[in-house]
Amino acid sequence: MRAFLSFGSNVGDRAAHLRAGVSIVAGTDRYRLSRVYETEPVGGVAQDDFWNLVMELHTEADPWALLDRAHAAERLRERTREVRWGPRTLDVDVLWVEGFTSDDPRLTVPHPRAMERAFVVVPWRELAPELVSELDVTRASGRVVALDTLEMLQ
Ligand code: AMP
Repeated sequence: MRAFLSFGSNVGDRAAHLRAGVSIVAGTDRYRLSRVYETEPVGGVAQDDFWNLVMELHTEADPWALLDRAHAAERLRERTREVRWGPRTLDVDVLWVEGFTSDDPRLTVPHPRAMERAFVVVPWRELAPELVSELDVTRASGRVVALDTLEMLQ
């Protein structure tokens, strides 16, 4: 089945965190990545810009197993955290899973806030214009700037 996940990082070597997260979440499954987008953090706390991307995953894993993978990736990168209580090195969210909905607070799918955020909607539309419309992009808030593919970024 087809699933979409979002990845974000704003601490340290953001490309390295994203690469490690992508590899842990994908495992041996086939995937495609959007470009990486630079995003201003909201909330007024001084911190680096985020780098965000969306992954399309083709997997037989059930959605709870995907959440486990997401948490495993976050935990692994948390160990490289430089500042205690600082911003997270890696955040992974399950956005959408084909044929699956859940309102369990541990795993809410489709992700309830995904469509409000430009850093989710813009890269997601790159991969799935049939699921995310131009209007969805217009309605989402936040400024995002396309950087490059993860492969090309240092
Ligand atoms: P956050 O710290 O904002 O990344 O939130 C993490 C918490 O949200 C975890 O306890 C997850 O179990 C829960 N959660 C609920 N729905 C989802 C989802 N679709 N993707 C990732 N985490 C989720």
